[in-house]
Parts: sequence; structure tokens; C-alpha cells
Amino acid sequence: MNGNLFTSQLLDWYDANGRDLPWRQAPTPYGIWISEIMAQQTQIDRVVGYYARWMERYPDLESLARAREEDALRLWEGLGYYSRVRNILKSAEILVAEHGGVFPPDPAAIRSLPGVGAYTAGAVASIAFGLPEPAVDANVLRVFARLLDEATPVARAAARNRIELAVRRLIPEDRPGDFNQAVMELGALVCAKRPSCGDCPVQSHCAALTNGVVASRPVLGKSSDTVRIEMATGVLVHDGRLLVQKRRPGDVWPGLWEFPGGGIEPGETPRQALVREFVEEVELDVIPVEKLTVITYSYTRYRVTMHCYLCRLQGGAAPDPVFNEAVEGGFVTRDQLSSFAFPAGHRRLIEFMEKDPAASVIILNSLDR
Ligand code: SF4
Repeated sequence: MNGNLFTSQLLDWYDANGRDLPWRQAPTPYGIWISEIMAQQTQIDRVVGYYARWMERYPDLESLARAREEDALRLWEGLGYYSRVRNILKSAEILVAEHGGVFPPDPAAIRSLPGVGAYTAGAVASIAFGLPEPAVDANVLRVFARLLDEATPVARAAARNRIELAVRRLIPEDRPGDFNQAVMELGALVCAKRPSCGDCPVQSHCAALTNGVVASRPVLGKSSDTVRIEMATGVLVHDGRLLVQKRRPGDVWPGLWEFPGGGIEPGETPRQALVREFVEEVELDVIPVEKLTVITYSYTRYRVTMHCYLCRLQGGAAPDPVFNEAVEGGFVTRDQLSSFAFPAGHRRLIEFMEKDPAASVIILNSLDR
């Protein structure tokens, strides 16, 4: 590969085709860091709105270091992988306490922050500080596995190391950040999972194209199997209010709020599971009176089917929940639901109750009683 020609062709293409994203307009270490953490596992188009709201609320490290976790989680709601929020807040505290509220221009120091891996450290170092550091994410792995015709699965260290070395050798001293972003952009817009090789500015350098093996690059390792989970969730309405609880530290989605419920055990119907879960979780006897909807969603390798019911207390049962599996909880109004952060499946249930006319009637009638 002719490195100079490759780099100039790639950067010319990026100058003409790179998307005008808000964090690219006047890159700062803080903005690049937040955008890169948000972009993990998320399409860039979705990140733009979240980024704008985040920057409006927390424009700098000082404001972020003072943030309440609950508020930050609410802003993040829908992006998933909520441990990223806690790591961002911890990092902000460290940066304010130990670095005077500024990012150190040192890849190793950036890499030592909670939740910051080699890729994010490389992105901040190269884009915000102009340091010649590689930033190798899934897009870059895919592009370079094709350019180099890398036959080893990219999940293996040997392949990743070869790709990182190739990137490091190609990074130009004068535009390291643009180079890294150009490769990512090429992976997003042209060398995507289904590549458009006819539109590729560096096709003359592509070994996989030359060798006719583009369709089989990158070589992927065996992915772990999807795990299917059936859950039952109950919207317990009492005295015009709905019961919610906050998940514990160490649980999946710690710190987020939810309606009580849980996994359906073998031999149980969703209603039976829900009655059992309410007793175990909040020590309340309930009747699932109406099936509201079924919501499916995925996180990591789990595919969840959530059966959602409107519930009432059993006649004579006291409305005094004991939160055995939550840090706190209580009955809240429908309007208050918007101020809590919920996992995606529960937020979709709330949206369903707000938008679906039949569900709204059921809930409203129930609240009125
Ligand atoms: Fe990717 Fe095709 Fe370009 Fe090769 S020629 S880098 S496979 S888009």
C-alpha cells in the first residue's frame, strides 16, 4: 500500500463527504469524550440529539462533576448501557479533583479514567489534542480487515494488533484526528457491512477487493447465542397512583426505575409469575386484571419478551409495599413518571400507556376509581 497516496485520497474524500456533526465543529476533549462514549453501540444519527441535550445541561466538566446521577441517567435514558453514565460521572470527579477540571493531553492518563478504553483514549488524544494515536473501533477493524485482507478473526488479539500497527503507520502527523475520523466515516458510509466498493476512495489499495474476498472479510469469531427471556411486569394502580421502584446497585440497570415484575418460571403463566413477583419484591397481593401489551426488546445478547398487565390490590390488601429488591420506591402520579429514568422496555410501556387509546382508557378508568 502506498501510504501517502492512501492518506491523501482518504482525507480528500473525508473533506468532501464527512458529516457535519456538532462535536466536530470546534472539537474539545470534553465534547469528543462524551460523543465517543455515547456513540458506543449507538447510531451516530441518534447520538446527535442526546449530545445536544447533554451539552446544554452539562456544558463542561465542572457542571458534570456536580451532576446528580438521577438527572444524568434521565438524560441518557434510551441510549442503554447505563454503566457508562456512572463512569462518566466518576471520571468527571477525577478530572476536577486531580487535573484541575481539564483533560490531560496524555493518552495513558485518559485511558486510566473509568470506562475509557484504548479506542476512546485514542479518539480524544488524536481529535482533541492532535496526537498521532490510533482509534480502532468496530468500523476501523472492518475497514482495515478488508484493506489488508486480514484472514484471522478480528476478535483475536493478533489481528487487532496487526490492524492497529497498520493504522499507526499511516496516521499523518499533521491531521491525526481527521485521519481517524475519516476511517470511521468510511466504515459508516461506504465500507459498511454491505460495502459500496464502487464509491470507495481507496479501492485501489484494497487487498480484499483485489483478491475477490470482500464478502468474507472481516472474519468474525463465533458470536454467543441469543438468550430468550420471558418476563411479566405489572402496573399496579392504587388511589390514582402507580407503583414504581428503583433498582439496586449491582443489578442490571442499577439506579433506574421500573414497574415490579420479573422472570416467568417454567410451568408458570405470566399472571401467576406476576402475582408471585409482587409478593417477593414488594410483599403485596395483587390481581392482574387486564393485559395491556407485550413488549419485546434486546440488550447485549438477551432478547426479552415482557408481558405487561394492569394490576389492582387484592381486596383488603394494605397499600404498603416493602421494597425487598429495590433501594426505594412508592406510588407516583402518571405525570411524575417523566422525571424518572426507566430502562427501554419500561419506558416503552409508559409510552404505550400514553399513546394507545385503549390502554389510556383502561388506565384512566382505573385511576378514576
Ligand atoms: Fe471497503 Fe470495498 Fe473500499 Fe475495500 S474497496 S475498503 S471493501 S469499500
